[in-house]
Amino acid sequence: MARCDWFTKHIRQVHMDFHMPEFPPEAIKSFRADEFVAHLLHGRVNMVALFAKCHFGNSFYNTTVGHKHSGLPNDFLMEAAVACREAGIRTLAYYSLCCDIRVCWEHDHWRATEEDGTPTPTTGCWGPVCINTPYREELVLPQLQEIAQGYPVDGFFIDIPMVAKCYCRYCKQKFQAMYGYELTPQLPENERQAFLYNSTGRLLRELRAICEEHNPELVIVTNRSGRIDAPQTFRELNDCGVWESQPHSNYLSHSFAARTVRTYNYPVQVMSVRFYQGWGDLTLKPAAQMTTEFAAMIGNGCVASSGDQVNVDGTLQPAVYDMFDRAFGFVQQREELLAEAATVRHAALLAPVPRRDHPAPDALGPTMQGAHKALVESHVQFDILPSLDLGKLSDYRYVVLSGSPEYAPEVYPALRDWVSAGGTLVACGTSLLRDGGVFELQDVLGIEFLEPSVFSVSHFRPRPEVRGEADDLPLQCRGRSLKAIPRGAQVLADYIYPQIETTKDYAFRHTCPPPSLHSSPYPFATINDFGDGRGVYIAGSIFQIYWETNHHWLRQFVSGLWDYIDAEPPYRVDASGIIESNLMRLSDGDLLLNLIHYQVGHQGAASAIPSIERVHPLRGLACQVKAPGATAVILEPQGESIPFKLDGDYATFTVPEIEYLGMVRVVARQGAS
Ligand SMILES: [Zn+2]
Repeated sequence: MARCDWFTKHIRQVHMDFHMPEFPPEAIKSFRADEFVAHLLHGRVNMVALFAKCHFGNSFYNTTVGHKHSGLPNDFLMEAAVACREAGIRTLAYYSLCCDIRVCWEHDHWRATEEDGTPTPTTGCWGPVCINTPYREELVLPQLQEIAQGYPVDGFFIDIPMVAKCYCRYCKQKFQAMYGYELTPQLPENERQAFLYNSTGRLLRELRAICEEHNPELVIVTNRSGRIDAPQTFRELNDCGVWESQPHSNYLSHSFAARTVRTYNYPVQVMSVRFYQGWGDLTLKPAAQMTTEFAAMIGNGCVASSGDQVNVDGTLQPAVYDMFDRAFGFVQQREELLAEAATVRHAALLAPVPRRDHPAPDALGPTMQGAHKALVESHVQFDILPSLDLGKLSDYRYVVLSGSPEYAPEVYPALRDWVSAGGTLVACGTSLLRDGGVFELQDVLGIEFLEPSVFSVSHFRPRPEVRGEADDLPLQCRGRSLKAIPRGAQVLADYIYPQIETTKDYAFRHTCPPPSLHSSPYPFATINDFGDGRGVYIAGSIFQIYWETNHHWLRQFVSGLWDYIDAEPPYRVDASGIIESNLMRLSDGDLLLNLIHYQVGHQGAASAIPSIERVHPLRGLACQVKAPGATAVILEPQGESIPFKLDGDYATFTVPEIEYLGMVRVVARQGAS
């Protein structure tokens, strides 16, 4: 049994921020462990992170090596951990690693250092400290050992796992000794970031050894460790991951994170906050908003998690736990069913991850965000799979490459074999165009790559079989396309040049020039049979452009194309993109279709966070789930049967009402798996 198995059974999680300076006279004077736990219980919280050391460098327990907050008479960590354990609430001890303003005040030689050798400046409570300095051995590890040895917590939450950069003498010494050359600002960014991640990774290995000695059950959870753009080698040093996901212009971030982390071999906390603008502002989202966020987390197969912040005097705000009572109450009603459900693997959006030990910024780039949005809104059943997890490819029937070419060389032969064995590969834009002008897998796609077009904007016209709901006219695609010659591939859409390439003095209007009256000689989309599978190519960067423009015809084209290549999908949902779908399979073989409802208020300025004060149920949603011989369709968690028809292999039914999350169980035929 894995150390972190309990993590997925305690899915009502709160991260309790407690960054506390010493100057307020009332600081932490009113903390009472019994009241603290009473609030958590009222809010139905069953896992909480408790502060051991904050960004100010203040410890909240009886430390002999660090500085205990001067306003704290007792041992907060001990009292809170004991009371939580008695109440059945799991706990993690929070430790601020690379941010400690007190260390910056007291130990110049532990500070992070700029290129010019000066200490990185501090701002507010932000004091960047370097774990390659003796800070690690003289303060961090002894403190972590105190906690591992003496405190009834279930693990560690290590925050601020690294600084943005450091050129201190200790980093330079270690880098030189480990790699044989000098750490300089001229090295590639990825390489410098990899060194910082590896440095934290080595600390995590030391922490693991401390846990093994004192309490092997302790789990290690490091912030960023669940993120897809963090190095895989860093993720793997954790028992559970963390992915901070705070909505800004939209709420898609929870879905993106959840669809990614559900492909990992360990659980990940996708964490929002109860605040509007960000950590510690003490504003409170309405229950409708938090429930919408939790629905996106659990409906996509994740835990539900939110940040909170303690008042200056150490008390909690009752209104927050009234809100959690409702939002976590919603989770609680569904968690038992979800605990035995696993997402059905069908399509994979393959995230560009070039190396296991490097960060992968493109994995979260605009091509991926746009592909995620378009596929969610088109009700495609898909996961986001890190591209180095090639062993999992065979679980999927469809793979999408969103447009970034940052794949490792071993990905291409693996994809060729996978297509040959029956998979359908959809490659968009420059996904397969590597450095040096090499275009991979041209044989799979049945095309010959010529060059990037001279025109910086494009138009295209889908052929009727893939047009879907898009209008029958030249459709704009506001970016450069590639010229490719079909060599066996069938054309699905034609590429149309703009009338001209616009310059300052040579233009139609100030926006995109109109399309030419005739198609170019090149396709915009093709499909090719290869082995037992197919290769689909889209010559324009439609996913990135969709992300940047929200041009609906791009999404409609994706949807039309998808219907063409996936004629018998796992389900069909007759709804707009405000309904997100995710199909799961229960342990008894039944299918569970989750329908996540995103009903947002009007958008204000770009800086405003979309508000969800109230959600009006959506009624009468027509759905089909592929379940040959299905015997019943049941609304969960209420267990109410609804009428359905068998239409070929599909159970066809109408979901009467969806508030935040519709859950529909389709009972499999007896003996079906
Ligand atoms: Zn350093």
